Amino acid sequence: MLYKLELSLYQRPFKTPLKTAYGMWKIREGILLKLIEENGNFGEGEIAPISWFGSETLDDALNFCKSFSGFISKKDILTIPNNLPACQFGFESALPSTNKPLNKPLKNSALLPTGISALSAWKPLWEKNYSTFKWKIGVAETNEELKIFEQLIEQLPTNAKLRLDANASLNWETTNQWLQVCDAWGKVEFLEQPLPITQLEAMVKLSQQYSTALALDESVATLNQMQACYQQGWRGIYVIKPAIAGSPTKLRQFCQTYKIDAVFSSSFETSVGRKAALNLASELSLKNRDVGFGVDHWFAETEVKLIKNL
Ligand code: MG
Repeated sequence: MLYKLELSLYQRPFKTPLKTAYGMWKIREGILLKLIEENGNFGEGEIAPISWFGSETLDDALNFCKSFSGFISKKDILTIPNNLPACQFGFESALPSTNKPLNKPLKNSALLPTGISALSAWKPLWEKNYSTFKWKIGVAETNEELKIFEQLIEQLPTNAKLRLDANASLNWETTNQWLQVCDAWGKVEFLEQPLPITQLEAMVKLSQQYSTALALDESVATLNQMQACYQQGWRGIYVIKPAIAGSPTKLRQFCQTYKIDAVFSSSFETSVGRKAALNLASELSLKNRDVGFGVDHWFAETEVKLIKNL
């Protein structure tokens, strides 16, 4: 099967630039694509790389797309190399036959502001029907944060859930400190990526020592990394960003074969990529954990601006 390929480049500025490990991120850029069959049937997909999180760069993706002169075969799509995971996702989810409707409603978790502002931020969100909250830690001194944490956990209704995300900023001691406090309260859904990618063994060990669940995020950006972590003994939670994880077919196989406990999360993609990512989430969220796709308020405009056709 040969598809006609249409590509366009989009840009979406963030309302406030996002602070990342590699500096400020001001504009989300990506590629929207359309695969058109001879009879006019078509499917849409999105390539939304985050190179600093482990995917290819936008330039890599553009070069790959431009290597096809307006037509691409199904075989080309199913053999996109693993070093282009965002392309694998974008093209595969654009295959006309794979566009399935959402089958299960999913709830979003709500991101709280860092530091003490979290204490006044959760209630209006709770009233808007959010029941899972995420709070970034490892931003200030551990003892300071633990004090705020204890107030927060005391304030939260018993059926609320709190996720802590350290973005790899803790060390062995501070992780133990956090996990001891979390275990004592018993109200934390999970602690996400306490240690850097290089310290998987330590995180495997910690996940066996404490009753509070641990999740990996930075360590499992792509399917290759997920498989490597699984092989090295990771049986905790996987935070999966489908838009940069790689081939949806292979991701589905991995999750189903190993009964992965997954939390699905956005890559700041547009509604095109989000639809495909949420389809996977609704199919593969075995424990029905809330997803992290409520990110539209991070953008300055609701409209996605197409910069040019490629
Ligand atoms: Mg995270």
